[in-house]
Amino acid sequence: MRLQFRRGLLIEAKPLPPAFLNRKSHGEWAVFEDLKPEGKRWVLETLFPDDQWNREEVRHVVRWPELESVWLMASLYTGHGQNYDKLERVNPKNPEKLKAGDLWLIPQNLLSPELGGSGTLPIHLQPEDELDDDAKIAAYRGLLTFDEDKEGKFAAYRLRKGEALYSSVVLRYTDRVDAKEVNAFADQIAKRSGIDDVRSIQPGTLIKIPANALSAPFQPDGTLALKEDREMREEVRQTKRVDAGPKLGGLRIVLDAGHGGIDRGAAANGIWESDFVYDICCRVKRLLEEETDAEVSSTIRYPGIGFKFRDDIPAPTKAAEILTTPPFANDGESPNAVSVHLRWVLANDLFSSFLRKGDAQKSLFISFHADSLHPSARGTMVYVPGASFVPSSFSLGANRGAGVKEMKKGSHVTFSSKEKLQAEARSRLFGEALVKALKQSKILVHPNRAIRNVIHRDGKNFIPAVIRYNQARTKVLLEVANLTNEDDAANLRDSGFRQRYAEAVVKGIRAYFKK
Ligand SMILES: [Zn+2]
Repeated sequence: MRLQFRRGLLIEAKPLPPAFLNRKSHGEWAVFEDLKPEGKRWVLETLFPDDQWNREEVRHVVRWPELESVWLMASLYTGHGQNYDKLERVNPKNPEKLKAGDLWLIPQNLLSPELGGSGTLPIHLQPEDELDDDAKIAAYRGLLTFDEDKEGKFAAYRLRKGEALYSSVVLRYTDRVDAKEVNAFADQIAKRSGIDDVRSIQPGTLIKIPANALSAPFQPDGTLALKEDREMREEVRQTKRVDAGPKLGGLRIVLDAGHGGIDRGAAANGIWESDFVYDICCRVKRLLEEETDAEVSSTIRYPGIGFKFRDDIPAPTKAAEILTTPPFANDGESPNAVSVHLRWVLANDLFSSFLRKGDAQKSLFISFHADSLHPSARGTMVYVPGASFVPSSFSLGANRGAGVKEMKKGSHVTFSSKEKLQAEARSRLFGEALVKALKQSKILVHPNRAIRNVIHRDGKNFIPAVIRYNQARTKVLLEVANLTNEDDAANLRDSGFRQRYAEAVVKGIRAYFKK
């Protein structure tokens, strides 16, 4: 083994058991990253024989002070050099200049998942991970049993190896996604289940999920929510596909990029939401215009940039306008809610004559966003308009419409029960086509239920206004990636990823409009 100053670790590949290597190593030496999880653990134990691997932590003893650094330690044990500051926080008394024999604690929650930590959600870990939405929901439901104690009804779940309470229970079985709420609810469930330390739950531990917090498809038998969910899934199966041919002729598509201007949206890991999702939106627009006969509009434009897409996005773009008549500048002089509402008002105006004269089923609306969830969550989430969260009618008050011309045709909406049901079913079908296209392009989608029809926040259930009041027959809001996750953020920063993403979206549109 060869530890390189500030570079990392090389392992002589020849004497290494082949089962420890992920790829065929061409040279004499393999890099640490290319090892399988068992191989990494083996190498670390061999290189640092004084380390103690306990259930809660690794007690690392510095052995090669001239070569080791906190950064290297972080990259070997946690999977990311950037975690060095977290290691320093856990070991506040240790000097940054390492000495032989120094003891560094690496808690289990910082360890890379391959080494048994819960810092990052392992991908493709469970047998149901690759199933389609219906089969996956059935598989998840099959893992629950229902019971009652003095605190009321609950669903019992036994945590499997590699699963964590916040992702495999709260994110999967409830409609909470907000990082703080997910953590708070995980603590609440832990308490009810008699678990003292959320960070070290043994596989097999019984988890009690309060029945009233379960998402509709996981509700106990006999509940209205479960009945409605099953009806919806039946509606999805009954929904006939609409064919638009290879050139997508006759499609009316409206694209929207969330936030913009004064409103940067979510921000984490050195990037922010608005510019990056706008760039993806512009790429989708360009691909559709160049390769198809679909009629495409955007709700938003950055005046200084136009619809040009960019390789580098160095700083937030200051100006953005909603393309109403007159354009509405997202400059903060009016409340942000105006900008959100004007997007669906504008989309409805753009769709209005098409819905009367064209084939209404060929109307499609996509809004691009990125979220900031628990840092362990990764990948795309697709929101569809849950039928029970769409009102039968709604009018936007004139005072909230900034006097734009589109208010006349776009601000008043009505939806019959049948329309609500069909819109959710169509949007779900589209969501599935998208998820499939993204996976084929090796782009991550959220492993725990990527398609959702409601958000639970601050005790309320809702779907975003931009799809709630939208009159397109198919409408989704895409959370492209989780900015709080380092790897997701790095993807969004990469223009190659954004291009691949846009191509996958177009692939998904083609697959959906095909019989
Ligand atoms: Zn957003």
